[in-house]
Amino acid sequence: MTAIKNQIFLPFSRPTIDEATIAAVGEVLRSGWITSGPKVQAFEALLSTYFGGRPVRTFNSGTCTMEIALRIAGIGIGDEVITTPISWVATANVIIEVGAIPVFADIDPITRNIDLGKMEAAITPRTKAIIPVYLSGLPVDMDRLYAIAKKHHLRVIEDAAQAIGSCWQGRRIGAFGDFASFSFQANKNITTGEGGCLVLNTVEEARLAEKYRLQGVTRNGLDGIDVDVLGGKYNMTDMTAAIGLGQMANIEAITAHRCALAQHYFSAFGDTFETDTGAQLPVADFENSNWHLFQIILPDHIKRADFMTKMMEHNIGIGFHYAPIHLFTLYRERGFSEGMFPIAERVGRQTVTLPLFYAMTTADVERAADAVKSVLQQ
Ligand SMILES: *Cc1c(COP(=O)(O)O)cnc(C)c1O
Repeated sequence: MTAIKNQIFLPFSRPTIDEATIAAVGEVLRSGWITSGPKVQAFEALLSTYFGGRPVRTFNSGTCTMEIALRIAGIGIGDEVITTPISWVATANVIIEVGAIPVFADIDPITRNIDLGKMEAAITPRTKAIIPVYLSGLPVDMDRLYAIAKKHHLRVIEDAAQAIGSCWQGRRIGAFGDFASFSFQANKNITTGEGGCLVLNTVEEARLAEKYRLQGVTRNGLDGIDVDVLGGKYNMTDMTAAIGLGQMANIEAITAHRCALAQHYFSAFGDTFETDTGAQLPVADFENSNWHLFQIILPDHIKRADFMTKMMEHNIGIGFHYAPIHLFTLYRERGFSEGMFPIAERVGRQTVTLPLFYAMTTADVERAADAVKSVLQQ
């Protein structure tokens, strides 16, 4: 790695795969069974236990888990699905993928999650589902979310891609509610390289998820086979599941260390950071969030690209999550434009993600916080 100012490059995210996990993947490779098999079954069983005994199925991405949840819920052409404009574009793309109509509601400027009041106001007779996103691992008000869903008879597909290990008032995200979708992409708290899982409500839904995952196939006996729904090719491999099993063995330690690092950011920034710099810190939630990301909103006078460049001079990598989805060309072509969701547009322009990952130390946090302060106070 290059060293500028004698300091090693600090990325905003880096996975930690321990030697036991690497050995477990080697064992799978030598076993003669490398696609979906016993490791996938073991991973699904472990996840099901983790999510309070609910049915869980794994897939090769977090994106397809949401698409499959929409299909299981019977959502398709002409149906409206409400979500947030501040998410990875996958969240809205899956709505279009199943033929439904994406509808956005602006975000809350403090939590940066969908504003549930505006979400409820966006409900029409054609609304069939809502996809809340728990940005940076901070859940929305789950009681209010499910009260709104119940009142308007809507399905909920929780985009909990960033929220494994997060809670709502002592209950694990994914252990209650309707569908919950998680991602195991490389930057997530728990990774399998690529992958995802869906927490479902019933055995029937889980069976349907299996069909959508593999070409719609059902098997019966040694040579019985039928296809009665149009499925795709979304199954997880045993190599991938072996990584997931190794990661899940450390989930409590990973979550606790991330929370400790986030807490350290707050103390490193100090009480006067916001007034000194005009930047906005995240909500200091140490009850519910798994601290997937530590995001600050830059003051309007500094351009994000300039901030990122200056942080690179300190040899620190900065991410941004996310550009507002409604301003992408594909969405502009569907009638969305500037000014529709002003809070999302400002956050989307000025949000930055600071380094936060399991292998980081409190000294790394101090280094990043000092660099942020010096760049913003220049
Ligand atoms: C990572 C992520 C996804 C997509 O997950 P993949 O596994 O990359 O398909 C969707 N939504 C959010 C909020 C994410 O962070």
